[in-house]
Amino acid sequence: MIDVPSIFGIDVFNEQVMKERLDKETYSALKATIKNGESLDIKVANCVAEAMKNWAIEKGCTHYTHWFQPMTGITAEKHDSFLTPIDNGKVIMEFSGKELTKGESDASSFPNGGIRATFEARGYTAWDPTSYAFIKEGSLYIPTAFMSYTGEVLDKKTPLLRSMDRISVESVRILKLFGKNDVTRVTANVGAEQEYFLIDRKMYDKRKDLKYTGRTLFGARATKGQELEDHYFGAIKNRVSAFMKELDEQLWKLGIYSKTKHNEVAPAQHELAPIFTTTNIATDQNQLTMETMKTIARKHGMSCLLHEKPFADVNGSGKHNNWSLSTNTGENLLKPGKKPEENQQFLLFLAAVVKAVDEHQDLLRLSVATAGNDHRLGANEAPPAIISMYLGDDLEAIVDAIIKHEDYESHGRVLLSTGVESMPDFKKDTSDRNRTSPFAFTGNKFEFRSLGSSISISCPNIMLNTIVADTLSQFADILENADNFNSACRSLIRKTFREHKRIIFNGDGYTDEWIAEAQKRGLLNLKNTPDALKHYIDKKNIELFERNHIYGETEVRARYEILLSNYSKVIAIEAQTMINMAKKDIFPAVSKFTGELAQTILSKKAVSTAILVDEEEKLLEKMSKLLSQFAKLTDKLDKNLSNAKNLGNDPLKKAQYYRDDVLCVMNELRAVGDEMETDMSTEYWPYPSYGDMLYSVQ
Ligand code: ADP
Ligand code: MG
Repeated sequence: MIDVPSIFGIDVFNEQVMKERLDKETYSALKATIKNGESLDIKVANCVAEAMKNWAIEKGCTHYTHWFQPMTGITAEKHDSFLTPIDNGKVIMEFSGKELTKGESDASSFPNGGIRATFEARGYTAWDPTSYAFIKEGSLYIPTAFMSYTGEVLDKKTPLLRSMDRISVESVRILKLFGKNDVTRVTANVGAEQEYFLIDRKMYDKRKDLKYTGRTLFGARATKGQELEDHYFGAIKNRVSAFMKELDEQLWKLGIYSKTKHNEVAPAQHELAPIFTTTNIATDQNQLTMETMKTIARKHGMSCLLHEKPFADVNGSGKHNNWSLSTNTGENLLKPGKKPEENQQFLLFLAAVVKAVDEHQDLLRLSVATAGNDHRLGANEAPPAIISMYLGDDLEAIVDAIIKHEDYESHGRVLLSTGVESMPDFKKDTSDRNRTSPFAFTGNKFEFRSLGSSISISCPNIMLNTIVADTLSQFADILENADNFNSACRSLIRKTFREHKRIIFNGDGYTDEWIAEAQKRGLLNLKNTPDALKHYIDKKNIELFERNHIYGETEVRARYEILLSNYSKVIAIEAQTMINMAKKDIFPAVSKFTGELAQTILSKKAVSTAILVDEEEKLLEKMSKLLSQFAKLTDKLDKNLSNAKNLGNDPLKKAQYYRDDVLCVMNELRAVGDEMETDMSTEYWPYPSYGDMLYSVQ
């Protein structure tokens, strides 16, 4: 039996530990920094560092690390020990406020998109006191931001914190207009549901593609796929359940509110959802969750696959980003109120989100664009690549009413006379029905569903916070100058809904009709990563980031380059792995199989011409043809991959080349490979099959 309350957060330097271990003054100074972002005095930092060190050492730590999130999307850490030599050849364990708050790190080994070339090579990490330090495997982990010495942002945390500040400032401005002067801080919250696959480690080890690229590059469909729909919410298998139990325990110790777990649609696929928390903490915790999943799976003889599409023809994995705004006074700004005047405020925030999503479809789309996610979006298992919003029938009716009627208030009374006293109390089951929408209102929050399973949730939330903050700021400018706030607010809401209604779509996002309809409405359909990322450096976007102090132009361009070159690199590695598998394993295996088949035919014929060998001959002919096609495509892929070197430096051109001339050939090669696998005897095929992998864990 696990005593959850007693283990929860025991590896975290949280409120409770701070209260116990810091003197009153230090504690309140630190709290002020955490809550209001006030800068920290070095004396206070020294006290905090000392307390952290003692706590960590008592818990068996010898090292500390500044833990940061470079633009690679994974986390980085460099461990230093607390050890300090003293005169008599002995050592003491030391940790200063300076070491806690600032660390040096060579920025050159991390992607910087050209920033470092023009500026300085060194980078530094700076403590983020708003995310708790924690302990993992004998080290004290200190969440930090990472930037260059000249101040350019080199990570995913700094812009996230900036975007959280922006949305707070602008929301507070709006709330003041509603008379809510006691609100001083608005927090963007996130709950990220994480999907993943578990397969047996032995199978994983035999697949080069999984090991090097995270997904299968070859593999014919299993005889049993997900068509029976018997896995979703099905009984959890013993090994998986043991894994989940240990995972939960580990996450709880790290102060992560892991809450629900269940099987997903595909065989071997599962999901974990934590309870929501502030965007910054949710981002750190999601990174930690992914890392912990991998480590614990290994301990249980399994491998955790976080790739968006590990198996073709089987649902891939995503991450739902549940997002809301709450005030320091405890109000959820996306919760429709009971009273009409509260509804006005809710509708204004709703209008801001509607406008923001419509005007910045490109940014939301590109924030989830990766080579892996390209396999999912629009493939009837994940939302389409077109960004639209689902509000649910109740809310859409209200939006329609507001748009149609000049006098919204009088219509409000019409709504009343139909029995609706105020806003309906949205039930989850009525608002959450549409699973095909990329961006759905689910009662008191929005669920952004286009995220791939492996990405950091940082970028999508930077975008969300920034675009909504920017819109709220425009609203505040208008409303602060209005003579009559109430009527100005009403007409702003109406105008906004009228102008941005095209983004609202409650129907089935998987249909071809929607694609045609979306085109008519003028919505963007950015089908793949290069198409989406192209928009990062659009003038309107650079201006948006500059206006909101999230990124300067150099920083936007750096991100654009890094993400595009990451796309190209991923495909290059996949192509290289495919060529290796094709040449070293698959070709020889099929050649051997056909050779032995030919021998069999010959020897059967030698016995007597009366022995029928026509089926073997047919198979031999088919396989030989396929093999020759396979070899030709392998060569073509090899050639196209080598040509990529001559493309020059434009990251967009390169990415487009990889998409059109490398990935496309990979798909052709795979089709031939999979056909051969289907027809070949199991004993000759060099890799575990889809069936072996998907049903490997019992
Ligand atoms: P689903 O039906 O989408 O699987 P779940 O209830 O499993 O829904 O998960 C919903 C996620 O949304 C959880 O992580 C939950 O903590 C989070 N969530 C709930 N309320 C809010 C909110 N107000 N703001 C942000 N996230 C929330
Ligand atoms: Mg969900």
